Amino acid sequence: MDTKLNFIAGKWVLSATGRTREVINPANGEALCLTTESSAADTESAIEAAWQSFYKTREWRDTDAQAKSDTVLKIASLMDAYRDELAMLDTLDNGKPLRESEGDIDDAIHCFRYYAGLIQAPHGATYDVNGGFGPMHSYTIHEPVGVCGQITPWNYPLLMSAWKLAPAISAGNSIVFKPSSNCPLSTIRLFEIFEEAGMPAGSVNLVLGSGGEVGHTIAASGKVDMVTFTGSTKVGQSIMADAVGNCKKVGLELGGKSPNVIFEDCDLDGAVEWAMVGFLFNQGQVCSAVARIYVQESIHDAFVAKLKAKVEAMSIGKGIDNPDIGPVVSEAQMNKVLSYIEKGKEEGATLVTGGYRLTEGEYAKGYFIKPTVFDNCTQDMTIVKEEIFGPVGVISTFQTEAEAIELANDTEYGLAGAVFTKDGAKALRVMREIRAGILWINCAEPTFNGAPWGGYKMSGIGRELGIHGLAEYQEVKQVNIALETGPIGWYEN
Ligand code: NAD
Repeated sequence: MDTKLNFIAGKWVLSATGRTREVINPANGEALCLTTESSAADTESAIEAAWQSFYKTREWRDTDAQAKSDTVLKIASLMDAYRDELAMLDTLDNGKPLRESEGDIDDAIHCFRYYAGLIQAPHGATYDVNGGFGPMHSYTIHEPVGVCGQITPWNYPLLMSAWKLAPAISAGNSIVFKPSSNCPLSTIRLFEIFEEAGMPAGSVNLVLGSGGEVGHTIAASGKVDMVTFTGSTKVGQSIMADAVGNCKKVGLELGGKSPNVIFEDCDLDGAVEWAMVGFLFNQGQVCSAVARIYVQESIHDAFVAKLKAKVEAMSIGKGIDNPDIGPVVSEAQMNKVLSYIEKGKEEGATLVTGGYRLTEGEYAKGYFIKPTVFDNCTQDMTIVKEEIFGPVGVISTFQTEAEAIELANDTEYGLAGAVFTKDGAKALRVMREIRAGILWINCAEPTFNGAPWGGYKMSGIGRELGIHGLAEYQEVKQVNIALETGPIGWYEN
């Protein structure tokens, strides 16, 4: 069986451990290929390659902005040329419906194009300064941070890689990258594209392996200037702790349990369909899933009836057959989601639909969970408090706007939120009160390369995408120039 390798200092190499790991197709439980399983020593050699690239050979760092932009555009063009292959890889190891993978790849391509343009836009600023030491001029320049360690999850394999790699590379950093072991295939292909596009050796390094060994080594290394991570809040906390040693910059995109507030004056059919997108898109494996659904009491029964009918009509199958819902990513994730479903039943929530694994015929080989809705939920229930990261929505009711806001904010997370109402002023009031980084009004989940993405509270630190996403990978240097070169007469003697 084919074994996928690390990319270190411009070469495809096996881990010195000789260990491998299977990449599993969640639609049928079969191995797709093997990946080399790296050790801390492999990771350190990738970090060394990135360090040499940034601090010694400086080939990518010193490439001028126009040539950098040309290379990043070439990467985007190659991704476009291999679009169907990249989409198929995401569907094979992640399980998601092919049309969703295709949308992800298109977004990833545009992300590289966006940052190829942005690095040629004006940046920095000039400042008016006081004349205490004589006439002065002050301005800022933006520089790459240095060696960036980047660690990603499995839910949007190529897209999460693009959100990190496109701005970090465009800014001139050197990279050590670790994808999720569940879904590394499209990112491995992306590093082949980097090679084909002519990225200098050592500027982009890929290490395949576990979070505990490879990820931890990256986060703790004194030779890594910055670590950015997308994944669970628990691992994000351990990365913050690891980063303390050399006070490296930290960027964290973490978990969520986002609210969806549905008022009685909404377009009910629209709210039902968006609510489904909100907790079922990508099999519910979305950090920003608005899976805590709060419905105003007067429309509760109508909302639940319509939602139940539509959810039950969803097609479920292999991602390559383009169903509404594919398998969840792995057996472990399936078991985790099923255990939350059992908790919901035990703690007294009303099961409206779903609530089990599909086991008939072909389904039995894969990790398929029937889309699940719980009603009559209360804030103290585990399924309301914790991120499930699977196709499960939980419904509660509210009576007043103030109550809806209180329920929405009753969480340790702050990634996203949605509001449904035809009353524009009410939508804006509620939107402002929800303590989260991404808000949708009369929609849920769309995001754009130019707009900042990130969380409040325990959902993270910093922002990806947009101008903020580039700034994360830059240091800002203040430059002050005396406009006269002679003595200033500060000391009398
Ligand atoms: P995870 O935290 O288990 O793993 C994420 C990555 O971290 C993987 O590559 C993993 O190997 C690595 N890792 C694990 N332990 C590590 C350690 N000790 N040190 C360093 N790295 C380590 O998350 P997951 O299960 O892959 O993804 C699901 C989570 O990601 C959810 O909580 C979801 O909300 C979150 N997520 C957040 C966003 C966002 O933008 N905020 C986007 C996508 C996913």
